[in-house]
This record gives sequence, C-alpha cells and structure tokens, in this order.
Amino acid sequence: MNSETLFEKFAMMGQLEFEDGKIRLFGYRSVLVLSSFFSEMILLMKNSRSFGDKLAEAARKSFGDSVARKLGESYKFSINDFVKWDTDIGIMAGWGILRWEYLSKDKRFGEVFLEGSPIAATLKGKVKSPVDHVMRGFIKGAAQIALKEEVEVVEEECAALGAERCRFSFVSKSKAEEKKK
Ligand SMILES: [Zn+2]
Repeated sequence: MNSETLFEKFAMMGQLEFEDGKIRLFGYRSVLVLSSFFSEMILLMKNSRSFGDKLAEAARKSFGDSVARKLGESYKFSINDFVKWDTDIGIMAGWGILRWEYLSKDKRFGEVFLEGSPIAATLKGKVKSPVDHVMRGFIKGAAQIALKEEVEVVEEECAALGAERCRFSFVSKSKAEEKKK
C-alpha cells in the first residue's frame, strides 16, 4: 500500500481530521512540519549524543503517551495489529518506509528497518553519527507498549552515514539483563 492510499484510509476512518488551523491524528493535535526542521535542529546541536537522546525521549513521550497508548489499548490482544497500525502511521506521516522484524512477546527484542528517512537524506555526508533520533524515540514508545516493559533502542545503521537504509535494534531491559548473566 503506498502512502497516498494510507493517507486516504486514515482520513476516511476519521483518524485524520482537518479543519482550518487544526489537524488531528487519532484526536491529537498535529502539525505539518518540514522535515528540514528536524535536520536543522540536529545540525544546530552538532548531533551531540546527549541532545540526540533528549530528542528521542521527547519523541517517545509525545507518541508513546498519546497515539501509541491509544492504539495499545485497542489492540492489547494482538501485538501484530498494534505494530501494523504504528507502522502505517509512520509511513502515512512521511517518515519513510518502515518495516518491523522479529517482534514477538517471547523474544522481547527485534529490529526495525527504515527506508528513505527524509532526515537522513538531508544530512547525508554532513554528520558522523546516526541522526534519526526522533524515529528512535517513536520506536521506543511503540515497542514499550507492545512488550509492556522498558526497552532500549539503538540506531545501528543510518542512511546519513551511507547505509542503504536505517536499522534500529531494540531489546527489553529484562532480556538485556538475562544476556548479561
Ligand atoms: Zn537513520
């Protein structure tokens, strides 16, 4: 399904509403922002690690405490449906083509692939570390609701550094601790 049909789908279901001066996604006020806004912010902060982590945390809180939580409550019995909705929202909103891999409640870890990140495209060749902090936060917010526990997310590969696509890995805290033993 391409992003245009997803856009139409969300609008038809009333999950995306437009009114002069107001856009609502699942009832939550949203804004259309140029992706270069995020790239400029990252450049301004020289892509420092601590700034990136703060930006990711802001994204996690923003998405995790609103849309993702609402979806989680609707799909608590189907992790796959929940992830499908989350992925479709990201694709619809223009963050690139997202794909979740290896997610299951038992495994408590997984990977997310992102093709065509607009932020990575703008910053390609201008940075020395991964730049998709906002997406990292969105993934964390969604994965924590899916797995019902705290997770760690790392952007392992980023298109801004020449990778074909961005790759994020996540693991639940309990799983990470099991591995250490
Ligand atoms: Zn990236």
